[in-house]
Amino acid sequence: MEDCVFCKIIKGEIPSDKVYEDEEILAFKDINPAAPIHILVIPKKHIPSLVELEQGDEEIIGKIYRIINKIAKEQGIDNKGFRVIVNCGKDGGQEVNHLHFHLLGGKQLGEKIV
Ligand code: 5GP
Ligand code: ZN
Repeated sequence: MEDCVFCKIIKGEIPSDKVYEDEEILAFKDINPAAPIHILVIPKKHIPSLVELEQGDEEIIGKIYRIINKIAKEQGIDNKGFRVIVNCGKDGGQEVNHLHFHLLGGKQLGEKIV
């Protein structure tokens, strides 16, 4: 999508600190980290949010979790623990309308609401 900030990051039009990339998935450090480790994992396909998943997207979602597993190990937080968050829509606090998974860790995470 032309005016999507994460699509621009995928295309390299906006720089990012990448931690993983393949033909379908990109992971990069959040510009405004909420924890010592705060990485965004996104599909390269522009999926606006969780409510706009299409048939066939199951595979990419599963793969994203596998990449989160890999990154957590590389970052050394697999044993200490971490949190994965997907904000969806207005009430969910989603600000960027390109599906993304927040991987947070590296400290005892607070503000647990569930
Ligand atoms: P949301 O609130 O939509 O779940 O999360 C969007 C996240 O994207 C925020 O944590 C914000 O800091 C991050 N973000 C927004 N713009 C950029 C950017 O240009 N580069 C990077 N690396 N992160 C961004
Ligand atoms: Zn996009």
